Amino acid sequence: MDDLKFGTRDKRGNWTPHRPAQPAPIWQRPFDARKVIAWIPEYLWPWNAFHLATALLWVNLLIPDWESLATLSFVNWLWLYGLNAVGIFLFFGAFELRYYVQRRQGTRFKYNPKFPADHPSDVFWFKSQNLDNFIRSVFVTVPLWTVVEIVLLWAYANTWAVWLPWSTHWLWLSFLILIAPAVHEVYFFFLHRLIHTPFLYRWVHSVHHNSINPSPWSSLSMHPVEGFFYMAEAWLHLLIPSNPVCAYFTLHSVGFGAINGHLGFEKFELTEERTFDSHAYVHYLHHKYFEVNYGGDGLVPLDMLFGTWHDGSKEADERMKERFRRKKERANARRPAASPAE
Ligand SMILES: [Zn+2]
Ligand SMILES: [Zn+2]
Repeated sequence: MDDLKFGTRDKRGNWTPHRPAQPAPIWQRPFDARKVIAWIPEYLWPWNAFHLATALLWVNLLIPDWESLATLSFVNWLWLYGLNAVGIFLFFGAFELRYYVQRRQGTRFKYNPKFPADHPSDVFWFKSQNLDNFIRSVFVTVPLWTVVEIVLLWAYANTWAVWLPWSTHWLWLSFLILIAPAVHEVYFFFLHRLIHTPFLYRWVHSVHHNSINPSPWSSLSMHPVEGFFYMAEAWLHLLIPSNPVCAYFTLHSVGFGAINGHLGFEKFELTEERTFDSHAYVHYLHHKYFEVNYGGDGLVPLDMLFGTWHDGSKEADERMKERFRRKKERANARRPAASPAE
């Protein structure tokens, strides 16, 4: 498919979509009901449907029996860790293999024309973004994901959390699943904004930002402090009447769903005419410019509210530069004036 029908490529090969990123149609003005209705299937399919399917698979088939989950056991942790590690190996690995190793789509719809494997860099372990990101994901973030998971199951198994049955509370539980992606955007925005403060950025979040040109394995490549608090969002379900399936939906949207912002491609080609959207652009711009787009891709447009939204357009670029200029001016004004020579 010709990606130049959908965007432009500059001299350096960077591809930019014609249509700037937009918040979800529910926030767009003037309000257009037809646009909102047309957007609903995209909200559910394929990404959120996938996270719900894996949540059901885990709760109904894969996790150990509830009796054994009532005590914290290393064997259970190991089993759950194995499931998560295999899960991300297959899921992230499928995108990595097809689009970054086999390069089936070449650079069509790829924002940055470079492939990390072709550019060794000293900022990464073994000079390899892929290897560094893979090791940090599998041996740092996924073990912490599993800690969050086993504590969640332990709380449910001991009835410390309110576990509502689907038969009587299906409406409330369905509502929780529907709003979970929006809750995730709010949680992620504030956590992410916090770790962009200078001290936490330097010691924690800079690890994730080593990948300026993110690829699938960058998704969960994090410092352990970030990895833990990022995954701990699933514990919100322990504070409200909920159900393990809903909690798993959040856990998997956060864990498996981290890939969306790091796919590096705008669209994946299915046939010559059909594609599916990655939802990667807004977070790709965050990796490119650092101090924009702290939230997700506009389901809850907090970045617009706080003036940090970047939609990829030249105007947004100008606004960002202006913001940086003002920030620099404020910093200079705070600096004490040099004392006059005696
Ligand atoms: Zn990222
Ligand atoms: Zn960041």
